[in-house]
Amino acid sequence: MDLKDSIRVIPDFPQPGISFKDITTLLKDGEMYRRAINELKDLVAHMKIDVIAGPEARGFVIGAPLAYALGVGFVPIRKSGKLPYETIEVGYDLEYGNDRLAVHTDAIKPGQNVLIADDLLATGGTISTSVSLVEQLGGKVVGAAFLIELVQLAGRNKLPEVEIVSLLTYE
Ligand code: IMP
Repeated sequence: MDLKDSIRVIPDFPQPGISFKDITTLLKDGEMYRRAINELKDLVAHMKIDVIAGPEARGFVIGAPLAYALGVGFVPIRKSGKLPYETIEVGYDLEYGNDRLAVHTDAIKPGQNVLIADDLLATGGTISTSVSLVEQLGGKVVGAAFLIELVQLAGRNKLPEVEIVSLLTYE
């Protein structure tokens, strides 16, 4: 079976016009989940990574096992108000709606090489915000890795200086 076959597409969720890529059907299949993480690991093998940062919530599901597989640390980027220690925050727009993301001020040391990982690249708002948070802490973004890229939304054009890799693409 193809990895893509294990992803369920839900039309008009969470609002009319959005074709939602539901990765829960991939995640619940141990073989597919492991394959996806291993393939992402191969895609980022040439990057020099000290730590992976992943935005809540599906960024954890991709970023944390990838960090474990690479033997590097994982930094959660969370919605505003969730992290217990001192944070910095940045506001952002989503494909649908808007929010604020936050990271602990001591999560990344100046000069660390950071890979950002998430399940899906759409408009690029989430990844741009994540890059901004990492850079405010003095981290260097060496790349961004996604399970899925929605090509038509051209999110990668928002960050021409970041090397972006994705396993699966949709028009
Ligand atoms: P962006 O900020 O517009 O690039 O949207 C990416 C973020 O929205 C990611 O964190 C995704 O988890 C979420 N997202 C947007 N569209 C979808 C979808 O079709 N399936 C799953 N997650 C999505």
